[in-house]
Amino acid sequence: MTLNPERLRAEFPILAREVHGQRLAYLDSAASAQKPLAVINSERDFYCHGYAAVHRGIHTLSAEATTAMENVRTRCARFLNAASPEEIVFVRGTTEGINLVANTFGQLQVGPGDNLIISEMEHHANIVPWQMLAQRVGAEVRVIPLLADGTLDMDALDRLIDTRTRLLAVTHVSNVLGTVNPVAALVAKAKAAGVATVIDGAQAVMHAPVDVQALECDFYLFSAHKLYGPSGIGVLYGRKALLDAMPPWQGGGAMIASVSLCEGSRWSAAPWRFEAGTPNTAGIIALGAALDWVTALGWEAMIDYEASLMRYAQAGLASVPDITLFGPPARVGVLSFNLGQHHAYDVGSFLDRYGIAIRTGHHCAMPLMAHYQVPAMCRASLALYNTEEEIDRLVTGLTRIHRLLGG
Ligand code: PLP
Repeated sequence: MTLNPERLRAEFPILAREVHGQRLAYLDSAASAQKPLAVINSERDFYCHGYAAVHRGIHTLSAEATTAMENVRTRCARFLNAASPEEIVFVRGTTEGINLVANTFGQLQVGPGDNLIISEMEHHANIVPWQMLAQRVGAEVRVIPLLADGTLDMDALDRLIDTRTRLLAVTHVSNVLGTVNPVAALVAKAKAAGVATVIDGAQAVMHAPVDVQALECDFYLFSAHKLYGPSGIGVLYGRKALLDAMPPWQGGGAMIASVSLCEGSRWSAAPWRFEAGTPNTAGIIALGAALDWVTALGWEAMIDYEASLMRYAQAGLASVPDITLFGPPARVGVLSFNLGQHHAYDVGSFLDRYGIAIRTGHHCAMPLMAHYQVPAMCRASLALYNTEEEIDRLVTGLTRIHRLLGG
């Protein structure tokens, strides 16, 4: 089955709007993807017909909402091929999930004189929580460097791992370079040394199916809003034996088995132990709709379409005078570039006047900006609703900006 982008676009109401009198070309889906009607309507329907607080109610609506929410947990487990729904924790997003792991598993496992390893291409969400943990416990953060082609130096990892390494936290796909890291190989190296693994899947889950059992990672994270789902909800996958041994992070309702003023509190089982307070139930329901929407399209058709659009975009951008492209040729999702010596903000502002939305700035990856010795980059990112015509507009826009501003 091949993907029909025009038919798909009709499912995204926002794509019909204009910006500065031009048809919107939304090339910023790596920051946050737009939502199809299936997702928008599922949230609306839930509020109209199914809404109630979950878990604690005996009445019909509460019981139905609880079943619907737990059903999404099962669908998330299936989506990642987790061994059971109990390995799925609902969090606000990738950032919160990494903080959860750092503050529970990390706090238990990493001590003074230990080290943990990240990479030079990480998003701040996969740097700062580990720096904070390391600072708290007196550990060291080590960094896998980049090779000249924008891939990770796998040999360096062998030199970085030692008997005091407790954890390896790396991204599956770079949000700046589009590099697809060899996660299975990274995890294998870590496992051989008895090191736990945390994989940031924020930029991966929308581009290819993920199988956490095949990857053999200990933790995997993603955010619904980059997967055509709602904002404010995400998923932490954790291996059951690890989640079961982890203490809670936040205290409050829903995460306890009992609370006594004299004897203290006892926790409920994982994953509910990590879900204190009233959850974003409508977000969870809409996440379920997003998973259904994506999987119904079929991975083969999606991967084929995205790959051909990426080839088209790479060739188009390469034809723009004075452009510098960052990252390896084999990539998914994003294309980062700079135009001559112009600041990314200037380029982005001009493109906005043409109705073209791209990302500009440090992309929450300041260490990567330092690596390439630039203050900022422009980033165009591709989703299933993007078309060759939009890429043509981007290329024409950039060529015009180059003509206007010079090199
Ligand atoms: N990791 C990567 C690779 C990302 O691209 C992002 C978001 O841009 C995040 C983590 C953080 O995701 P969120 O802001 O949804 O928590």
